[in-house]
Amino acid sequence: MKKTKIVCTIGPSTNRFEQIVKLLRAGMNVARLNMSHGNLEGHQQTVDNVKKARESLGVPCAIMVDTCGPELRIGNFEFSKVKLEKGKTFTFTTREVVGDESIVTLNYPDLLLIMKPNQKIYANNGLLEFVVKEITKTDIITRVSVGGELSNHKSVSIPRTRLPLPFISEKDEKNIEFAAKNDVEYISASFVNRPEDVVLMRECIKKYGGRQEIISKIESLEGINKLDSIIKVSDGIMVARGDMGTEVAIEHIPQIQKNMIEKCIKESKKVIVATEMLESMIYKRRPTRAETTDVSQAIYDKAGSTMLSGETASGSYPIESALTMSKIASATEKVINYDNEFMSTYKDLHKKVEVIAYSACATARAVGAKAIVCYTDQGKTAEKISKFRPKATIVAITHDNFTYNKLALAWGVVPVLVEKQNTMQDILDFSNKIVKELKLAKKGDEIIVTLGLPLSETVHTNTVKISVVD
Ligand code: PGA
Repeated sequence: MKKTKIVCTIGPSTNRFEQIVKLLRAGMNVARLNMSHGNLEGHQQTVDNVKKARESLGVPCAIMVDTCGPELRIGNFEFSKVKLEKGKTFTFTTREVVGDESIVTLNYPDLLLIMKPNQKIYANNGLLEFVVKEITKTDIITRVSVGGELSNHKSVSIPRTRLPLPFISEKDEKNIEFAAKNDVEYISASFVNRPEDVVLMRECIKKYGGRQEIISKIESLEGINKLDSIIKVSDGIMVARGDMGTEVAIEHIPQIQKNMIEKCIKESKKVIVATEMLESMIYKRRPTRAETTDVSQAIYDKAGSTMLSGETASGSYPIESALTMSKIASATEKVINYDNEFMSTYKDLHKKVEVIAYSACATARAVGAKAIVCYTDQGKTAEKISKFRPKATIVAITHDNFTYNKLALAWGVVPVLVEKQNTMQDILDFSNKIVKELKLAKKGDEIIVTLGLPLSETVHTNTVKISVVD
């Protein structure tokens, strides 16, 4: 049972029910919908298919709606893509045109006011580069400095420039309403620059009666600089290496990633490493050695999850990509000594729930328990135990369907859905049964069970029990 969770972006290669079932079997824990592509009708079908698939397999799977954020996207080309040559003139226009090798629509009139000659424009996560030559009333005329293929609706970025766009656009508000209406578990918020952005997003979720957790995507220099305060108000962070790679020098990304993972674990927030993890698998059945090592390295650093984007959304080998990532996770986790690192790392305990979670992990380590079973309502205790990255598997038993699917993203947690339990003995009996079913323990083994007593009241976890499996 792997501890690191896998986020798969669902797109044309995988949005059918049968494909989602295959992804779940290959190890997908979270299905991500990228709202920058497709329409709400299509996304609705995907959400329905994921819900149907997770129910028919009886496995948890969180759904994540990824907002567009304040991003710039080009219009369409006559034949869906063009090849741009270095040195040629290329125009971004606010006029509605059918694009070709010389022009494409970029309909943000305010951009004309902030752009200056010699400024750089990137497209396709920085693969293409343009230098501004001239700005007219409607057009930004550029020279292609790094050529390549550019296809419909690709994103465009202007490094280190705060765009003249609201954090929540009309389209994103509709996407948030969609997420709330479908009661999905997560919203990943694109281009979070400041903690205020997260607060705004939370208010918007509340406005639509939603209860989604927010994963802030850090992809700008400003976001990196304000990381600490953004982590505090977010439920998790995505290391969005694609757009980030156009804002900071590429050689700094590994240390930024390590820093983000470490800080999120300390704050017990979720952390997803994203983008280009198995990029070559979009076209090939096997990844490069470097990609394999990249995924593995994130797991050595104890990232909560790793993500697939184009590999599963539009690639030729989506199921193989998910399976490959699962295999890398399992193989890497086998050689990590979680017990050793647990004792040396996270000793600064501030809240009661942290002390209880730490005690559960320390007790599990001392008695060699293979499982820590926690009876949880909103999943908070399971998430706190997850913070300590214990060797024992965390089995979160909950009667709340939202919590059950939400915890699919939590590192090391196996969510299990149960009826509401009335007595401590019922919980111990169920724990006994489930650890055997999951093949985590056998008769005579010791397991750890955490719960909040008395069960008749809404209390936080206050009990850590060593229980012998019979
Ligand atoms: P995207 O975000 O997939 O929405 O582009 C991730 C990234 O920028 O890395």
